[in-house]
Parts: sequence; structure tokens; C-alpha cells
Amino acid sequence: RILLAQSGHARAGQDSSSPEATSAAKEPNPSGALELHYQAVFREDDGWHVSGAEALVRWRHPERGLIAPDRFIPMAEESGLIHEIGRWVLRRACIDASAWPSDIPVAVNVSPVQLRHSAFVSDVERILRETGFPATRLEIEVTESALIGGSKDAARTLEALRAMGIKIALDDFGTGYSSLSHLLRFEVDRIKIDRSFVSRLGRSAEATSLISSIIQLGRSLGIMVTAEGIELESQRDFLVAVGCTDLQGFLFSKPSPLHENGCLDYDERLP
Ligand code: C2E
Ligand code: CA
Ligand code: CA
Ligand code: CA
Repeated sequence: RILLAQSGHARAGQDSSSPEATSAAKEPNPSGALELHYQAVFREDDGWHVSGAEALVRWRHPERGLIAPDRFIPMAEESGLIHEIGRWVLRRACIDASAWPSDIPVAVNVSPVQLRHSAFVSDVERILRETGFPATRLEIEVTESALIGGSKDAARTLEALRAMGIKIALDDFGTGYSSLSHLLRFEVDRIKIDRSFVSRLGRSAEATSLISSIIQLGRSLGIMVTAEGIELESQRDFLVAVGCTDLQGFLFSKPSPLHENGCLDYDERLP
């Protein structure tokens, strides 16, 4: 918390020469050193192509190097700085994805603390308006924990976002203890099967049949399904065979900064 606060708004609004910089400067980079990396999502459909990308925040610390979100998001949630970080992440992702040549969606992670904030929907609305990014290309990833407790408000927030055309993805699906009831209670557009299930594919009969069932369930409910954390070809092959459309994991590509031309950076020969 101290480290985040220390660096303050040092770089905010420093470069305002381009319209893009002006727009980004509206949301001062809270630590002065946050950056977004992107992990592409792949789809098999007459050959492989990229069907989306997930924005993942990192904090570049002058001495400690690149710091993973799990190491600073919890502190930011506690201190309330998460709201400022979240606005910066969303604005940056909208600006970045606007420059991509295809109209694939960009997915942004939102913490339960952000979702519960009364200004969240209006912040999202304003950032979309100011960046001109189409709501229909934005996916917001929420975890089940965001839906527990005060779930009436959560339902209203998700409804408002969906009414704007934003898609909602239920992240880390299966790790909560009441995933199915959340699925029925909250309308979501996508389920992301947690990496812990994917990693047990082929080694645990339960995990294997659970994954097939989730994919079937998604199909029958008209919900898109992404499998996360695919590291092995055997996992990829199984998921394709049981009809999982969207695949994400180190096997395909790791999260990385955008290429210097502003586009996603992944190996074209993949997978
Ligand atoms: P997540 O949303 O479940 O993101 C997936 C995490 O798994 C990422 O870690 C990603 O780098 C990693 N991953 C992807 N493919 C593989 C794989 O094949 N194998 C393995 N072992 N790992 C893989 P990362 O980037 O460290 O992010 C961790 C978590 O931090 C995210 O989990 C998300 O909950 C949170 N997070 C990331 N960016 C943001 C953000 O901008 N805002 C908020 N509120 N949370 C964020
Ligand atoms: Ca996610
Ligand atoms: Ca996840
Ligand atoms: Ca996670």
C-alpha cells in the first residue's frame, strides 16, 4: 500500500501531445508505473484464429521489477486505490483495443470491490463515451465472490452493464461453492473454466467429466465457454473434442505487452 501511494501521480498528464495521451491522462496512472499485458484467446474454426484478448495488469517497480497483480490488487482493494486502478485499466484497454485491426473483444478483470462501488456503472459508461470504444466489444470478467453477499446490487450492476451492450464473463468458474446457482441467478454471456480443472484433465475422472458437463451446459444455455490455463496439447485436444470454442493458456500464448505496432503480440504459427 505504501509503495503504491509513494509514487503518487508523478506521470499523470505528463504527455498530452496526442489525443490518445490526453484521453489516457484523464485517468492518472495511479502508481505512475502500471502496464497492461494481453493474453490472446484462440478459437478453432476452419483453422485457428484469435477470438479475443484479456487485459492483465502489472506494476513495474523501479527496483523490484514487474510485480504480478496477485501481489498488489488485494492491497489496492483494501486501501480503495482499486477504483482508480480499475478506471485506468479500463481506459487503457479501450484505447489499446481501438487500434487493433480486427474487432475482437477485449476482456477486463473487475474486482468485487469495484463492482460494489456505486459509481462503477457510470464510470464505465463515461470511459466508453470518452474513448469511443464500442460497448459490444467489451467483456467484463467477474468472479463468483463478487456475486455473493449484496447480490441484489450485483445483479442490478450486471444488468445495467448488459443493457449497455457489455458482455459479462464469470471468471474462475467452478471454484466457488455455488457456481450453478450463480449461473441461474445472474445472466452471464460467458463462463471461464478455471485452470485448476483444466490442469486435472486426464488425471482426474471427476475433473474430466465436470469439464464436459460445463461445456454442454454452456451450449444448452447459450453461454460461451472459455477454458483457461491450457498448457498441454493433450488438454487442447480434449477441449476441442468436447466442443469448447475458446481456448486460453501458455500453450497458445503467454500474456505479453503489445507489439510496438500496437497490436497483440503472439506467434502467428500457433498453435
Ligand atoms: P485471472 O483473471 O484468472 O487471470 C488468469 C491468470 O492466469 C493470469 O495471471 C495469467 O497470466 C495466468 N495464466 C494464463 N494462462 C496460463 C497457463 O497456461 N498456465 C498458468 N500457470 N497460468 C496461466 P496474472 O496475470 O498474474 O493475474 C492473476 C489475477 O490477477 C487474475 O486472474 C485476475 O484475477 C487478477 N487481475 C489481473 N489483472 C487485473 C486487473 O486489471 N484488475 C483486477 N481487478 N484484477 C486483475
Ligand atoms: Ca480473468
Ligand atoms: Ca480466471
Ligand atoms: Ca484467478
